[in-house]
Amino acid sequence: MFEHDSRIAIGVSGGKDSLSLLHIMAEIERDFSMAKLTAITVDEGIQNYRDEAIKLAEEATKTLGIEHLVVSFKELFGHSLDEIVEKTKNGPLTPCSFCGVLRRRALNTSAKMIGADRLATAHNLDDMAQTVLLNMLRGDHRRLLLLDPRGSPLSDMFVARVKPYCEIPERESTLHAYIRGIRFQSRPCPYAPASMRSDIRDFLDRMEVKRPGTKFIVFQSMQKMLPQLEQENRVFGTCKRCGEPTTQDLCRACSILEDLS
Ligand code: SF4
Ligand code: ZN
Repeated sequence: MFEHDSRIAIGVSGGKDSLSLLHIMAEIERDFSMAKLTAITVDEGIQNYRDEAIKLAEEATKTLGIEHLVVSFKELFGHSLDEIVEKTKNGPLTPCSFCGVLRRRALNTSAKMIGADRLATAHNLDDMAQTVLLNMLRGDHRRLLLLDPRGSPLSDMFVARVKPYCEIPERESTLHAYIRGIRFQSRPCPYAPASMRSDIRDFLDRMEVKRPGTKFIVFQSMQKMLPQLEQENRVFGTCKRCGEPTTQDLCRACSILEDLS
């Protein structure tokens, strides 16, 4: 996933996975003098929730001596997530649908801004399995290409997103954070229960108890499908506004921002 001289941006939300990964990567990076690590925290603008996480991310980066950049939806897109939710409350999309798309855009824009060639995120095995099913249930199997943990083959259009935690179950990541005494935000986002991901998480957790290994099998199935999907890659064009890969004229982020304007 990395070269000895990679310029790495790491998304740090202030939760257990991202802070845990930050500690591990900071340790590894010390042995690679040509590599550079910068933490990016996206402030979506969720009242009484994100502030604590930002503080914890600031604390950790300071202790580890890692450069830290905080960017907000408000400054990048002109609206906080709370404002978007208020504005679209009678529409069909859940807060997470806006948040996920815009957070990816915010991370990519910030990573480009600092000249990063890798964007590491702390998606764990549970996240990966959930996202695979989520895309399948939405009939959007081509988006699985974006899940390639080594960086999508579409990466030349954006900073390569790598996922070093992709095979680590959430329980192990949590255990690691506890054992090392890492302080992280444990309070869930107030918008989380409304998401489809939340239903899929419950389903996968139940399956994992009944049939251990289910999450890993879902993740591996996606990886086996990647070569085939890469051949379909040509169906992706570029967004006429921002140049990111899309199958439509406008990518999802640009079309959300256009609807909000
Ligand atoms: Fe955003 Fe949904 Fe995650 Fe909350 S739960 S931070 S709204 S993606
Ligand atoms: Zn676009």
